[in-house]
Amino acid sequence: MNKEQCSACKKSTTSTAGVFLQIKQDHQFLCLNCYNDMMAEHFGIGFENITFNPITLKDSDEDEHTFYFQTRLIGYQVIIEAKEGLTMISKAINFLC
Ligand SMILES: [Zn+2]
Repeated sequence: MNKEQCSACKKSTTSTAGVFLQIKQDHQFLCLNCYNDMMAEHFGIGFENITFNPITLKDSDEDEHTFYFQTRLIGYQVIIEAKEGLTMISKAINFLC
């Protein structure tokens, strides 16, 4: 899993926990909190970054699946995305709020 440094807050995080942007000729990586802050400022809305604890559910075979949540502000909508496992690559479920 690739690590990236947020261009705004300088925190290191996984590449799946942020957004790659190109603004004019400048390539940036923003963690989701900084991305949400930028979107809120751009749209002139108040937005508070929230986090959810992971949840673990058992399927019909009694296998456990742990889901991690990411919150992303897209314009005036909030997407809460649940991703399974630490790789956070696939099996994403999106909720529009
Ligand atoms: Zn950041």
